Amino acid sequence: MTGPYRRPPPTGDGLRLHFNENTAGCSPKVLEAIARLKATDFAFYPDYDDVYRETAAYLGVPDDQLIITNGLDEGLIVAAIAALQRRGTDGAAPETIVIRPAFEMYAITVQSFGGTVVDVMPREDFEFPLENTLRAITERTRLVFITSPNNPTGVRIANGDIAKVSESVPPDAIVFVDEAYHDFCGDTCLPLIATHRNLVVGRTFAKAHGLAALRVGALMGSKEVMGPLQFAAPPYSLNVCAAAGLRAALTDDERLRWYVSQVLQSREQFYQFCDRQGIRYWPSGANFVLARVGEVAPELTSFLQSRGIYIRNKTGDYGCDGCIRVTTGVVDHTERCLAAMEEFLCGAR
Ligand SMILES: *Cc1c(COP(=O)(O)O)cnc(C)c1O
Repeated sequence: MTGPYRRPPPTGDGLRLHFNENTAGCSPKVLEAIARLKATDFAFYPDYDDVYRETAAYLGVPDDQLIITNGLDEGLIVAAIAALQRRGTDGAAPETIVIRPAFEMYAITVQSFGGTVVDVMPREDFEFPLENTLRAITERTRLVFITSPNNPTGVRIANGDIAKVSESVPPDAIVFVDEAYHDFCGDTCLPLIATHRNLVVGRTFAKAHGLAALRVGALMGSKEVMGPLQFAAPPYSLNVCAAAGLRAALTDDERLRWYVSQVLQSREQFYQFCDRQGIRYWPSGANFVLARVGEVAPELTSFLQSRGIYIRNKTGDYGCDGCIRVTTGVVDHTERCLAAMEEFLCGAR
């Protein structure tokens, strides 16, 4: 069993490259929109008509096939409630397949609802383990989590593989495709929801749009699969600031494109650094890169922290021994991190 989630300690004004956040901050339009709210806007339960219409248009789905959630974390809870409520006739706990290494909230959420997690082990190259995923499916499978691009590897998954999983699970199971990092590669399996009725696609505005603290996520799927999720979702989970902030963020395409272009450049600089240093990395579709620095991973992480730069030591996660995960967002921030990494690695030789 996994324990409860432990929030990492505060970082003061350090450089946060350990959460894959947008370290440039959100669009100024978001701040302006929140500043325009009136006292009664805070006092009344929010009206979601506008935010649903605009977000559905932005994402390209009908608004009755969309749920906007209090962060994608809440989206995971809503999907888990909908998927795990029914036990088998033998009373056995329903099973959820988690493909490792994975975002840690999947196992925490499922186990907190009394569900059982079935782990699928990673391949050496971290490519999607389709055969082993299909083999892990049983008649008790109720939920499968697929993350594309994956966190923490950045590896992208082909829609053909997602379709195969969707076609292979029991009829009432949900296949949840977490596309938290969609904006950094453009990949999506959203077109599949028309034919694959058990797919739920999750998105967040925490990463590319810089709204992690406002807490805004989205779930999309066929009408059939969304019904039980709409039943489970709290009616007012999006607070009024998040609703106003999201609407404003969606209008600032220029800001989003700027951040995505910073990410593309940062990733490239990170790869070049690894190539020069002889460090293995996995080409990433996200705003972070996983790299295998070897047994110095914990020391490198502490060294960077002593310089006020926070990265994630992934040693201990499935298949990730000796690996670090570094957010590759704002180019200036990446350069500061790489300079400090170089200093450590030169000293270590
Ligand atoms: C960050 C992240 C989330 C959570 O997003 P929130 O909207 O902040 O709750 C979900 N899935 C993955 C893979 C993530 O990396």
